[in-house]
Formats: sequence, C-alpha cells, structure tokens
Amino acid sequence: MKILSGMSLKEIEELVLSLNASKFRAKQIHNWIYLKSVSNIDEMTDLSKQFREDFKQVAQVTDTKIKVKQVSSDGTIKYLIEYPDGECVETVLMRFDNRANLTACVSSQIGCAVNCSFCATGKRGFIRNLSYKEIIEQVLTIQRDTGLKITNVVFMGQGEPLLNLDNVLKALDIFNNDFQIGARRITISTSGIIPQIKKLAEQELQSTLAISLHASNHAVRKEIMPIENKYPINDLINALKYYVEKTGRRITVEYILIKGLNCTLESAKELAHLLQGLKCNINLIPYNPVVKTGYQKPSNNEIMKFKYLLEHSGKKVTVRLERGSDIDAACGQLSGKAGGKANE
Ligand code: SF4
Repeated sequence: MKILSGMSLKEIEELVLSLNASKFRAKQIHNWIYLKSVSNIDEMTDLSKQFREDFKQVAQVTDTKIKVKQVSSDGTIKYLIEYPDGECVETVLMRFDNRANLTACVSSQIGCAVNCSFCATGKRGFIRNLSYKEIIEQVLTIQRDTGLKITNVVFMGQGEPLLNLDNVLKALDIFNNDFQIGARRITISTSGIIPQIKKLAEQELQSTLAISLHASNHAVRKEIMPIENKYPINDLINALKYYVEKTGRRITVEYILIKGLNCTLESAKELAHLLQGLKCNINLIPYNPVVKTGYQKPSNNEIMKFKYLLEHSGKKVTVRLERGSDIDAACGQLSGKAGGKANE
C-alpha cells in the first residue's frame, strides 16, 4: 500500500498512470494532500467514485496517528504523533496574535544525542532519525486536525536537525514546493554542528538559520551544552560568519536565560562583544522549568536589563513570548513524555 503523504507530484503521477487514469488526476490528488489536507481518499470529491475505489486498493493518505493532543490556554496545540513502528514524536502548533501566522514547530529526530542540560528531549538519548516523510507528516497532521493551513515552519522540536540534514533538506524542499510555504518562512535551528553549518551554507538557502548559543563564553557553554567540547564557541562564530557570507542571510541567535548562570550583566556585555561583526538578531528565551534540571527562570527585571544592554550594542533583540508552557510545549520542554514506543 502506497502512502500519499510525502509523495511528489511526479510520484503521484506514476501511481495514477499505473491505474490507467489521466495524469491530471495526480494534480487533483496532490492538492487534496498538501493544500486541503484530507485524511482519506473518499474526501477527494472531485475524483469519480469508481476511481476512488480503485485508488483505495493501492494507496492511503497516511499511516500515522495522533496519540495524544493537548490544547494550551493560549491556543498552542501539542501533538504526540505515532508512526507505524510505534515510535512517537511531538509537534507543536503555535498561533500568535496575528492569526494569519500559524507556525508548526517540527521534530527532526526521535530523542537527541546532543544532551543539552536544560532540555527534556536530550534526557532520552538518541533513538533514530526521522525520514523526510515523517517530518512533513507532522505538518500534515496539524493541517488535517485543525483544518488550518500552516504558514511557517521551525525545525525547533525534538532532535538536532543538522544531524539529520539530508531528510531535513528534502522536507524543506517539500514544504517550499508542495505546501507552498516560502523559504523565508522556514527556520532551521542548530546546537552548532560546525561541519554541517558549512554544508548548509553551500546550499545557499533563503531560509533562516537559528543558532542555540545560550552562553557568552566557552566555560558556561560547556557546562550546559556538551557539544561545546567538540565545536567551541569561537570556531562556531566563525562558521556562522561564513554562513552569512555565503547566503547573505541574517542569523537568529537563540539565548536561553537561566537565573544565576548566563544572564548577568557581565554575560550581556561579553555576548555583545562576541557577536560583534556577526549579522544577527537575538532572541532571548526565559528558561521554562523542566523537571530535574534544577534551573530557574530569571526575574523580569533581570531579563529587561540583559535585553537593554544587548540592544545598546546595536543588535535587534526580542524576548520570546512563552507559548504552551502549561502543556509542556514551550522551548526545551518537549520530551515525548507520553511517548517512546506506543506499547512501552
Ligand atoms: S536543545 Fe535541541 S540539540 Fe539540545 S538536547 Fe534538546 S533537542 Fe537536542
């Protein structure tokens, strides 16, 4: 049985032609999958009843299920999606005040090997990569469930996207061409895998690269992100400068503010100095408490002082609005908690 989610127009054409139907059917089916997001072939009402019956013998829309759905008081929705092998992954729909902007935060791996100390996903270790079809299935699941069309995609869910780069790039291509989501509305986030940042730079994409920096020097970064031992912060900044040079695109620097650790005024000055000469915007993320880390969120006063100092260096600085923290859907909170193998 062929699974239609994730198939290109050309692949659908081949399938349709094997049933001796007109090639034009493929375009109709493609629209039903990516733009109208139906759940089954019977909903494709502009296909004849006879063709739908024949088509159902060889294809189905999806093979994944929603295992858990949680809706936050702020409208954020978190899904736990189950794939046919029983593994589960989380994906989040974020709605901002401007309702025209619907962002899917997608996962790229089950578990994660990077093991950042503030992150719930890292606690599980690495299980496996997601295929590009499993990645795009997350967005299709949201669209099918809500009837809404996703406008933005951020690769900021579970996993390190650059350690699954081939599948992420293929998914990005499908988001761009099949979902018709503009490349500039897609963001890839990384913990700082330098060789892959250089590889990504060669693609000269128009998408945004977000770097999870979270520290202003080697010692602090090493404490919270073991990846710093392999790819030290100064080399990372040079790799990011290379990325900007190749693509012309401004980087987004993500910085989680953890009380007493990385949000002192000295840290702000050091960060401003470190980022001098890098074309970037800075996104400050007040820490969301995750069980067992022992970290705390700084006060609003500390956050605002940190922001002010950075702005003084000429950078554009935003403080990320907290979304879905009551359902553990905020940054660093995705653990696949209800997940793992469905039968575990
Ligand atoms: S923050 Fe990202 S890279 Fe770090 S452990 Fe969590 S999922 Fe992996």
